Amino acid sequence: MAPIFKTLYGRLSFVLLGLVVLMGILYVALTLFTTRHYLQEVNQRLNQTLATNLVSEQVLMESGEVNYMALREVFHMLMVVNPAIEIYLLDPRGEILAFTAPPGKVKRQRISLSPIKEYLHGNPAFPILGEDPRDLRRKKIFSAAPIPATGPLQGYLYVILGGEEYDSVVSMFVGSYIFRLSSLAAAGGLAVVLMTGLIFFYILTRRLRRLTAGVEQFSRIDFSEPIPIDSSNDSKPCDEIDQLETTFRQMADRILEQMKTLRQNDALRRELVANVSHDLRTPLASLQGYIETLILKEGKLTPEEQRVYLETAARHGERLGRLVSELLELAKLDAQEIQPRLESFSMGELIQDVTQKFRLAAEKKQVQMKNHFGSDIPLALADIGLMERVLDNLLDNALRYTAAGGSITLSIEQTNGRLITRVSDTGCGIPPDEIPHIFHRFYRVKESVPVESLGTGLGLAIAKRILELHGSDIEVQSTLDVGTTFTFSLPVPPS
Ligand code: ADP
Repeated sequence: MAPIFKTLYGRLSFVLLGLVVLMGILYVALTLFTTRHYLQEVNQRLNQTLATNLVSEQVLMESGEVNYMALREVFHMLMVVNPAIEIYLLDPRGEILAFTAPPGKVKRQRISLSPIKEYLHGNPAFPILGEDPRDLRRKKIFSAAPIPATGPLQGYLYVILGGEEYDSVVSMFVGSYIFRLSSLAAAGGLAVVLMTGLIFFYILTRRLRRLTAGVEQFSRIDFSEPIPIDSSNDSKPCDEIDQLETTFRQMADRILEQMKTLRQNDALRRELVANVSHDLRTPLASLQGYIETLILKEGKLTPEEQRVYLETAARHGERLGRLVSELLELAKLDAQEIQPRLESFSMGELIQDVTQKFRLAAEKKQVQMKNHFGSDIPLALADIGLMERVLDNLLDNALRYTAAGGSITLSIEQTNGRLITRVSDTGCGIPPDEIPHIFHRFYRVKESVPVESLGTGLGLAIAKRILELHGSDIEVQSTLDVGTTFTFSLPVPPS
């Protein structure tokens, strides 16, 4: 199993965790900033008149001199109220004249007057931060008033408000109930978001995991088992994962189908090779046998016997030649090396030519040959050479499987814009359970004729293939001991 951070679920969870932590940090930082700002504003507003009140209460300066007595009194008074407050007396330029902080703690001698002036004049936007005399870098909220309250300016009372209580997150967290509460609420909320997200991702990735497991299993099987993926989603694909699942299932179905066809083709090919070698070997062995006998018995055979031997050898040679040329023809048709060259021709004339070829053999076998079509038959659009081959094969069969006294009829008719050709005979017929197989290569109905007059078993396969190349098909109707009819149709050329 892959380590958790290498899985999609692990990665999504880590990203979610990172986002939640980031949101938490941002929330704390933002809350800290706004809360501190808010507290400073409230504190400064509440003490806005503090310095003014103190100045009007006590005479803190007289003719530019500090009144230490009054200052101490103010200091004591404030200590009672708020020990964090510090008081500074400044001259009109901001120089610190006196202060109440412990000696040695004050690090500045002069305070910038601009925040004080902003505080005293106009409409101040609180909080205003002024310089902290005890810290060179830090700024603090303050209350300030000119001395005296009315009359010529002698200096300023500068009161630093509040201590250092909320200067750090920890002190703020400990000191502020609201901050603590909202931080805990936010942490709880984020934890809920995290948990929900993790559960949601788990559910989402579970389907992906199932699909991955199915794909892995499929790659391991030998393509003979059904696809190991639930097909219940096929009818209602909702999201991309469903679509992926459906697409994979369809793809796997096609692969299985193709594998099945490949297996069947492979089995057929094996059978074909076995048949071919058997069919080639038999006449070859006979041919060889007769020739060897002739050589061995040279001079011992009568001329009549020699003639019979030679004739038999020639017949086997001829059969061998026919088989090889038919095999080659079928291979070329399969490889589409032979492409039909379509042309318009008269099917009636072609039938007459072909029947002429067979007439002698038919007479010899006492089989009647009849052509049954009128003179107004339209032309056919096909490869005339290939059509001659189809008719040759059908007539050859009809003659072979029809006994003396029987007849063969060739007819043409036009139906639905197509030219229908029929080759019927009154021969032995084909058993119904054999009919589906007769177009297969090397398939022969054994008991139909004596072994020596058996054909190659390729004639109908060739005829079917040629018609397939014309986008057509061949059909057969047969009744045992009554006869057989082969039918095929061809297009007529556009008028
Ligand atoms: P073959 O060379 O053996 O005739 P085909 O492919 O032409 O091979 O035919 C396959 C089988 O179909 C034949 O062996 C035969 O049993 C049967 N068949 C074909 N045509 C006819 C027919 N006109 N009448 C009866 N059986 C036929």
